[in-house]
Amino acid sequence: MKNTTLKIIISLSCVSLLSLILVQYNWAENLINLQKKQFNHKVKIALTNAGYQLKLIHHESIKSIHPVSQISSNSFIVEIQDIANPTIIDSLLQIEFKASQIDLPYKIAIYDCFTDSVVYTRSGSSKAEKVPANQYGVDWDINTYNFGVIFNDDDLNNNDYLFWVISISVVSLITIIFIYAVSIIIKQKQLDEMKNDFINNMTHELKTPISTISLGSDVLCEPEIINHPERLNRYAHIIKDENNRLKKQVERVLQIAFYEDDKIILNIEEFGIIDCLNKAISPYLETIKSINGRFNITGNECLINADEYHLRHMFSNIFDNCIKYRKNDVPLEIKISVAKNDGFLEIKISDNGIGMHQDQLNHIFKKFYRVPTGDRHDVKGFGIGLSYVKLMTEKHKGKIVVESSINIGSTFVIKLPI
Ligand code: ADP
Repeated sequence: MKNTTLKIIISLSCVSLLSLILVQYNWAENLINLQKKQFNHKVKIALTNAGYQLKLIHHESIKSIHPVSQISSNSFIVEIQDIANPTIIDSLLQIEFKASQIDLPYKIAIYDCFTDSVVYTRSGSSKAEKVPANQYGVDWDINTYNFGVIFNDDDLNNNDYLFWVISISVVSLITIIFIYAVSIIIKQKQLDEMKNDFINNMTHELKTPISTISLGSDVLCEPEIINHPERLNRYAHIIKDENNRLKKQVERVLQIAFYEDDKIILNIEEFGIIDCLNKAISPYLETIKSINGRFNITGNECLINADEYHLRHMFSNIFDNCIKYRKNDVPLEIKISVAKNDGFLEIKISDNGIGMHQDQLNHIFKKFYRVPTGDRHDVKGFGIGLSYVKLMTEKHKGKIVVESSINIGSTFVIKLPI
């Protein structure tokens, strides 16, 4: 998949997800408003009926139905301006609320129109005590009362909270799944690109020695080559060198298969770390000399229990990189130091090479990753060296950190438990 196609797909998915969230929000808000309106309507009908029934108790005929007003989001008043006994009102309300399927706790309030004040409130319930006529010093038989009900705000909003919690959870879950899917697609794409790079490099690295060997063998097959011992010797050496190069490449590739299986069994033995570092750098000594480079090791020899073969290969990979990623205009300088620190053996390898950007340091230990600018035509690699170094360090229960600055150099610090 092309980068632009992927970007378009991700952008369209983001827009769709955002629209979905907005529609869901709008829909949820409308639904809640509708539910509130329905509830208010049911309460008004129940109160109108209760007011009517109350009037019937005290009067033989009723001329008009008394208005019910909603005075706030949770309180309603019925303007009967009549006798209002709370016990009777509560009984009537219970019947009407049950008929209208209103199942929330409520408070009854009695309002005196004459004194313009609330003269009585109590929780409405079937177990409510009978109210004596003179309680609160109120005479319920005076016909200047209105009555009302008050619902608890929390009870009214309880359903809303639940609804919002469910909606937000569902939307969050969809968003998390979406982000996860996108990150997997991006990772998969990066892996794909890295694998393609790897195959390209590998083809180049294997094809070159094979064609040189084939060319050399053709020369050696010529019958008159026997009369030119110098030529024969030169071509035999070319074949040998190319064969060695091929062997090195194949070994590297085998390394990948080896640790992809995650079946590494360490062969732990005691050896000196400086000795191991010297062995690791020895194949590069000639190259270092030929480019006027220098290297030095400081610190005392220290015995360690580890897998000597893998440690040597780890150091080789780092030295190989120091040479590959050197600056062309400055003589290479590799500094190696060994020190004991906090129960760890600390091996520091610094170079004065091209260095890396900070944001690349998080990726260089990933398998097949190559710093894009490091992919100069003369610097070939498979992007597996450092992933091997990290894996082996961790296998030895150690840690690896890297510091690097562009054009200044890089320092790899490997800490291995003693
Ligand atoms: P390879 O060298 O085959 O590309 P590595 O896993 O060894 O793979 O390294 C990953 C990347 O880290 C390299 O592509 C290179 O850009 C960068 N790198 C590694 N070591 C150094 C170094 N000493 N100096 C600068 N860049 C480095």
